[in-house]
Amino acid sequence: MLNKDIRKHFPILQQEINGHPLVYLDSAATSQKPQQVIDAMSNYYEKDNSNVHRGVHTLGNQATEAYEGARDKVRDFINAKSREEIIFTRGTTTSLNIVAQSYGRANVGEGDEIVITHMEHHSNIIPWQQLAKEKGAVLKFIDLEEDGTITLDKVRETVTERTKIVSIMHVSNVLGTVNPIKEITEIAHANGAIMVVDGAQAAPHMKVDVQQLDCDFYAFSGHKMVGPTGIGVLYGKKELLNKMEPVEFGGEMIDFVGLYESTWKELPWKFEGGTPIIAGAVGLGAAIDYLEEIGLDNVEKHEQHLAEYAMKKMSEVEGVTIYGPLEPEKRASLITFNLNDVHPHDLATVLDMHGIAVRAGHHCCQPLMKWLDVSATARASFYIYNTEEDVDRLVDGLRIAKEYFNDVN
Ligand code: PMP
Repeated sequence: MLNKDIRKHFPILQQEINGHPLVYLDSAATSQKPQQVIDAMSNYYEKDNSNVHRGVHTLGNQATEAYEGARDKVRDFINAKSREEIIFTRGTTTSLNIVAQSYGRANVGEGDEIVITHMEHHSNIIPWQQLAKEKGAVLKFIDLEEDGTITLDKVRETVTERTKIVSIMHVSNVLGTVNPIKEITEIAHANGAIMVVDGAQAAPHMKVDVQQLDCDFYAFSGHKMVGPTGIGVLYGKKELLNKMEPVEFGGEMIDFVGLYESTWKELPWKFEGGTPIIAGAVGLGAAIDYLEEIGLDNVEKHEQHLAEYAMKKMSEVEGVTIYGPLEPEKRASLITFNLNDVHPHDLATVLDMHGIAVRAGHHCCQPLMKWLDVSATARASFYIYNTEEDVDRLVDGLRIAKEYFNDVN
């Protein structure tokens, strides 16, 4: 377990909600931010703020150094070969849309296949639906096993020589499943397809090495990894990014502009139209520093322990149904569940009355809800600042909710 003092680094966690110390179990939606990240951003605004790249004055240079320095930290964080492969975006959704609109439009034609799974987040479904409609391509889904995992046999059955793109989440934000990305990438490549990874729920929680995974694109968001909202990353292999057209035109991405023809900057800037998200990148850089000080291995171990503890404690509450694989080693640190026939929104409201924040709803995964045959679920998701006591408070809350709804019914 990580040191409990970590909690003290997060000012927001020091408060009471509805008269109870806050137990924040919604980090899969967005994580909280340590003082270090908040300070890095206010320091940037207090001392360095200016627009990047164009300035010949000192502040312009400081802002450029801060922004480009953050890119180097991201490169290191995911072990990309070069800094040109790191594109700053608004987040995972924007990153995936860039791949669909730029690579997809240029490389997918009528009758070609795009392969995804039933567990994907809407952000990794709709860009491909739109592309398939536009191009007359076929969107195919890899079937899930009963416990919500993917087998490589099913991947082999679904991916064919007509497949141009395989796009799969690294870790499910509902089932907690950790998908075998390296092996799926091998299958995609053997069929001549590229591999796109939605890493929104993986990058904050485990060491990601894009060279080892050998995927072609990897997308993630700063706000789920103790960084600010509004900043994310698209990693892409240089040889692919070099051939792709930008999707946003103007501002920082231009090289020469004529009345009827223009040219773009080199990578990575050709994909960063307009004034970039400078303070966001600085915050993301500080978030990476913070996570690396703790060590991603330690983050993973801590979460594994919490997930195991929570699975055990929550299954002891009669009436709790947990979705996804039940073996802790097959899953990440989040638990999606229902309590008898209590609507998850009602359950989350009662927990909130006791200072416990969990998410309720479809978690941006409506096709997966259909697959699970539920309209909605509750979800408790854990991060570095959560403790066994938080899990105990959740379990107490579930017992209180049970009594409350039994009394009402
Ligand atoms: N994919 C997954 C698996 C997610 O959990 C999320 C965020 N809930 C997203 C994509 C979208 O991320 P963002 O909203 O930061 O673009």
